[in-house]
Amino acid sequence: MNHRHLLPNEIDLLVDGDAGFGVGPLRAHLAECDDCRARYDELRIVADALESLPHHTPSLRFSDSVMAKVQVIEPWHVALTESATRLVPASTPMRVLAGVGAGVAAVTISGSAAWLAFRGDLAGFVFNLFVDRTRDSIVAGASEVAASALGADATATLASGGPAMAVLSAGVLAVTAVGAVFAFRRLAATARATRE
Ligand SMILES: [Zn+2]
Repeated sequence: MNHRHLLPNEIDLLVDGDAGFGVGPLRAHLAECDDCRARYDELRIVADALESLPHHTPSLRFSDSVMAKVQVIEPWHVALTESATRLVPASTPMRVLAGVGAGVAAVTISGSAAWLAFRGDLAGFVFNLFVDRTRDSIVAGASEVAASALGADATATLASGGPAMAVLSAGVLAVTAVGAVFAFRRLAATARATRE
């Protein structure tokens, strides 16, 4: 008889039917030692019971369905990177097109900024002229409506171009901003649809 009892992992080897080098002496000990054989038999019963259970593998979609219920909190920079990646078209021609478009936009904006910096006075003059003409025509039209509806006092207020112009300008700005946001969202949705 060997000088010691079998270790748990050695009994595992025997239960698994391992036939490697060194299993021979373990088997020899098992044949001689009642204690170790009792532990081996218990483990054998458990292993056989597990073996008799029906074998089945999880469906291929199992991990997907689990992960769909797991709320993964991703850092803001990862989310930002993914959003940016989503905007990049998948196909090479579309990427070239988007790159050219971005380049043209960048050059246009930079050029406009540079031109404004050098010719700001001229631009300001043209812009003011445009604003004045627009305001005059709007005020003239509004004055007629207001004069017929409210009388001369309202007409004087409108002609001074105070609160009415401020409200009008804010309105135009808001409509432009909302339009730009919708246009960008639509562009992003199209890019995503193309990618998928
Ligand atoms: Zn033993």
